[in-house]
Amino acid sequence: MFKGILIEKDEAGCHATLKDIDESQLPDGDVTIRVSHSTLNYKDGLAITSRGPVVRKFPMVPGIDLVGVVEHSRHVEYQAGDQVLLNGWGVGEQHWGGLAQKACLNGDWLVPLPAQFTPQQAMAIGTAGYTAMLCVLALERLGVTPGKGEIVVTAAAGGVGSVAIAVLSKLGYTVVGVTGRLEEADYVMRLGAAQVLDRREFSSPGKPLARERWAGAVDVVGSHTLANICAGTRYRGVVAACGLAGGMDFPATVAPFILRGVTLVGIDSVLCTRADRLLAWKRLGTDLDISKLSLIFNEIGLAEVVPLATKLLDGQLRGRVVVNVNA
Ligand code: NDP
Repeated sequence: MFKGILIEKDEAGCHATLKDIDESQLPDGDVTIRVSHSTLNYKDGLAITSRGPVVRKFPMVPGIDLVGVVEHSRHVEYQAGDQVLLNGWGVGEQHWGGLAQKACLNGDWLVPLPAQFTPQQAMAIGTAGYTAMLCVLALERLGVTPGKGEIVVTAAAGGVGSVAIAVLSKLGYTVVGVTGRLEEADYVMRLGAAQVLDRREFSSPGKPLARERWAGAVDVVGSHTLANICAGTRYRGVVAACGLAGGMDFPATVAPFILRGVTLVGIDSVLCTRADRLLAWKRLGTDLDISKLSLIFNEIGLAEVVPLATKLLDGQLRGRVVVNVNA
């Protein structure tokens, strides 16, 4: 038996509870992992509270991230004792995930734990941090260098935003953080932001084009915020869009794209290629100041996951939540 969060569905709806689960119930996979840590991501919050249609099969163990030690492997690249991590691939949605003490997975989905990080630090980064790095890589690929001007990062006090600010500032960019919680301005500045702006300046309908300010952007919010950021992006600037914390819609015009040559890049972490994942984790190893991670995360045990999921979706948590599944 092992402990894990199980989401079950019956006539009354979906319920997430901490349970003792029989190992025989683990799904098929060629690598069995003794999980040490997982995380609580926005998507896990949606799955656990059933506020979003994340879970595709029931019963489901949520948790889109995990780190642990290989217990058994039939995969050529992994042997018992290897430290591995996983982000995405539909784990915690269609295949049992990381919020449990055991997982059985397809070895092709795994990434060796980078030597720079402890298991706890890797999960402090998690999908949110690896997505932040994918956004930074997209800005770089499209020619946004520190000398080009300011980079705006939205949802600055959330997981993706926190890591994006820490990485961009270490790389020498001038970063402006946007948050709905100005009481977290000091935290956002300590991560490396040069300025913090109020979310309300971005969240209402704006003009098709605004004053050219941003050389680049990492947008976690979507909706009017994304539209206003595109409208305020400089000639040939780049906007990396990865989230929908403020809404799935995109009420914009094409003006920034056809008059200023702005590029809007979509970022997906779930089905991202293995090569891009390995690059993102390698770059996190060199371009994230590990000492900033201690500002970014809090650790909890499995028993606290379900109550905290609602707070996370209500935007009441700061940074990242690491789950020690054996605590
Ligand atoms: P967190 O829960 O850690 O942070 C979310 C943050 O969003 C909050 O802290 C808050 O930031 C901001 N926020 C919350 N509600 C609103 C609102 N109504 N309007 C504007 N901002 C709001 O989540 P993550 O950082 O992990 O993820 C954020 C988003 O990114 C989610 O939409 C998630 O689905 C998406 N995502 C996408 C991935 C991909 O592959 N494309 C991968 C990972 C995440 P503040 O308090 O600073 O305002």
